[in-house]
Amino acid sequence: MAYAYDDKNIFAKILRGEIPNTTVLETEHSLAFRDINAQAPDHVLVIPKGPYVCFDHFAAEASDAEIADYTRAIGQVVAALKVGPGDGGDGYRLLSNAGKDGVQEVPHLHVHIVAGRPLGRMLQPL
Ligand code: AMP
Repeated sequence: MAYAYDDKNIFAKILRGEIPNTTVLETEHSLAFRDINAQAPDHVLVIPKGPYVCFDHFAAEASDAEIADYTRAIGQVVAALKVGPGDGGDGYRLLSNAGKDGVQEVPHLHVHIVAGRPLGRMLQPL
């Protein structure tokens, strides 16, 4: 695996405080903020603070502490939004795009948490 992280991407700028964001949660290794072009009433992006391009890069190279923090942060955002089915919420979708076919626009790992309306099926049929 060979990933070269480009620190000029927009999420790197958010992490450096160069552009504003609407923060939902900040932990030692992770930041969650509202998507600027929300696709649903709740649309939150969760990113690690470390320089990882996409999920498999993160899974291979992040420390156990970063991975635990990131996983917990995603769960904490779901809890804060009160959308988890186990909390009586109507549910949510968690997704992470990677590369060209995944249509990843920003080359810094992020998961989308999308909720607040019926989301339809995950993918369009071929
Ligand atoms: P992706 O295609 O998974 O890379 O999606 C990137 C997401 O980042 C899109 O949903 C954009 O709306 C979102 N986005 C881009 N710039 C910003 C920004 N400055 N603040 C919040 N979200 C952003």
